[in-house]
Amino acid sequence: MRLPDTRRCAADLNLSRVVVAALARIRARVAVSVDVDADADAIAPCGALAHARGATCAMRRWNVNGRRRLTCRFVELSFVDKHAGGISRRSSARSARTKTTTGARMLFARSTAPTGDWREVFQREFVDALAPNCSYAQTAKLLRRCVRTGAVSFFDIERNPEKFFEAHRMLAKRANDCGPGMWIRFTVQFNLCAGTVVALASKSQRVRLKEMQAKGKLGCFCLTERLAGVNSGLVVNTRATYDRERRLFVIDSGGDDGTKNWISQGLTADVAVVIAELVVDGKNYGPHGFFVRLRDKLGRLVRGVTVGDMGAKTTGNDLDNAWVRFDSFTVPHDALLNKYAGVDAETGAYTKKPGIRTMDMIGQRLFTGRVAVAQAALSFARKLYDDTKVYSDAKKCTMRGSAPSLSNVPQLNSLYDEAYATLARLDSYVKTCETELCACLRAKTIPPARLVQAIAVAKIKAVDTAIELTFRLKQEVGSYALMSATGFDNTDFLQCCKFAEGDSRILSQKLARDCFGAFTKNEHGDTGVQSEIELDLCQRIASIIDEQRAVNPKIGKIEAWDCAWREVYRLAEVICERVMHEHTPSGAHMAARSKL
Ligand SMILES: Cc1cc2nc3c(=O)[nH]c(=O)nc-3n(C[C@H](O)[C@H](O)[C@H](O)COP(=O)(O)OP(=O)(O)OC[C@H]3O[C@@H](n4cnc5c(N)ncnc54)[C@H](O)[C@@H]3O)c2cc1C
Repeated sequence: MRLPDTRRCAADLNLSRVVVAALARIRARVAVSVDVDADADAIAPCGALAHARGATCAMRRWNVNGRRRLTCRFVELSFVDKHAGGISRRSSARSARTKTTTGARMLFARSTAPTGDWREVFQREFVDALAPNCSYAQTAKLLRRCVRTGAVSFFDIERNPEKFFEAHRMLAKRANDCGPGMWIRFTVQFNLCAGTVVALASKSQRVRLKEMQAKGKLGCFCLTERLAGVNSGLVVNTRATYDRERRLFVIDSGGDDGTKNWISQGLTADVAVVIAELVVDGKNYGPHGFFVRLRDKLGRLVRGVTVGDMGAKTTGNDLDNAWVRFDSFTVPHDALLNKYAGVDAETGAYTKKPGIRTMDMIGQRLFTGRVAVAQAALSFARKLYDDTKVYSDAKKCTMRGSAPSLSNVPQLNSLYDEAYATLARLDSYVKTCETELCACLRAKTIPPARLVQAIAVAKIKAVDTAIELTFRLKQEVGSYALMSATGFDNTDFLQCCKFAEGDSRILSQKLARDCFGAFTKNEHGDTGVQSEIELDLCQRIASIIDEQRAVNPKIGKIEAWDCAWREVYRLAEVICERVMHEHTPSGAHMAARSKL
């Protein structure tokens, strides 16, 4: 029996949500059984959606009244063609508990203890256990469990960095249906928090990190402040003053401007890496990392720490984002991460290993983060295209003659070709950055300027391209793009990617500034002027600055530079294209020709 159009539309929407929610549990070896009120025609796109979500499923006609049955591994979805009554069904789950999702009753049972290859354990115990619309307390609990399994170690970032990146990629695949919350939670835990400790810790501090993993403790990374953070070149207002008498540091936000904000996992974390200016005997030694405890054994916040929720977001509400304020917060002497720089407990003397700035080592986490962010953005865009293509292949399009599928509409067809080619090129470029960075991580060396530039380019290009491609796809696939649980509802993940680990605009400014700096000094370094078009743009920027100075001799350096902002961003774009070209094997020979 056919539903009237309006009801079919509602059924479509309902069905796809149910399918996605149920499929989220397939790999978790969860038995799910759902019945929904549906018309037979409405089922076809859902079958396609099921395929798109990676399920091995078969659509079979059930014998009576046009009933169809969709079977998947560990999942059985049955769509029953009846209007009234909506949902009713049995389940074969062993020990089952009930969860209500949008319009469907789902019965499921959890499985097994962790065993086997790390990928298998990580996938089963963590990636597959994710579900849409979880609370932040639920995902925090899940991450604790993942940390405890040890499937990915905090120390993998330097011992097995390829695994560290692979784990990020595995998790990124769930951002389309579950949103970005868990991916951000994971990267904050393993890269920003634990990764910073790995890079900056003494031997005894590394032992504390091992204990943190064994106990499944959560950590956050407190850098950004209301008026400072990664955008300001890691400059912060929070101060850690050494108190020699008591042999401890006193951390103070110094008011609202120094209050940390947007701190991921800030409401649930047990420990934190806090970036604060180190002050000893009145002398400021600049920003340093402190590994501190935020909560006591009973889970209560320790004295001197106040946290609050940043509020609801457009996406990723299964991640807690907090503001964190420190008021006369005392931390022990060994909270200062002191592999490269430390304070003598007794004399208060500040010592530092020559040749390495502590902030360079903290900055390393931004490089690993940028590669992971670039890969996550590309993964999100690719999955959105894959899922949408499955839908548009199955979707009949009226007035299309002998090729009636939506995928054959020329503008969509051509967008698919272009998008897959562009994503493949970017995937391969980012992979080269990952490979080079892994070598530095293993050797515990700071990446050379050329690689730092290449990684900035990877982040800018991958994220900008993912945003552009997903936006264009949305314009071409009609009502599907409005449906919840198709991935389009989580595209704000890409906004998070844009400002995470260094805002793309700030990175673009840096690319242009380095190039212009080399131009004014007439230098030929790795990050300087490398092509005719870059030279031309530098000359235009220089003449705009000169014009501004002629009109107003008192104009500041930044104000004069900002007057050329269009040329500045154009220069950054040109550098991005050239750097990518040089890093992709087929472009290598062309690179030589583009040199001055
Ligand atoms: C979901 C989420 C999780 C986060 N997690 C953490 C965390 O765990 N730890 C942490 O320390 N921080 C975290 N942050 C903070 C994040 O790093 C900052 O939000 C980010 O640095 C951007 O800061 P802002 O939003 O205050 O941007 P603003 O400073 O308000 O800037 C807004 C925009 O203006 C432009 N802009 C700003 N300054 C310049 C400039 N000088 N030149 C050119 N353009 C400029 C950029 O396009 C920028 O996007 C998180 C943020 C979010 C949203």
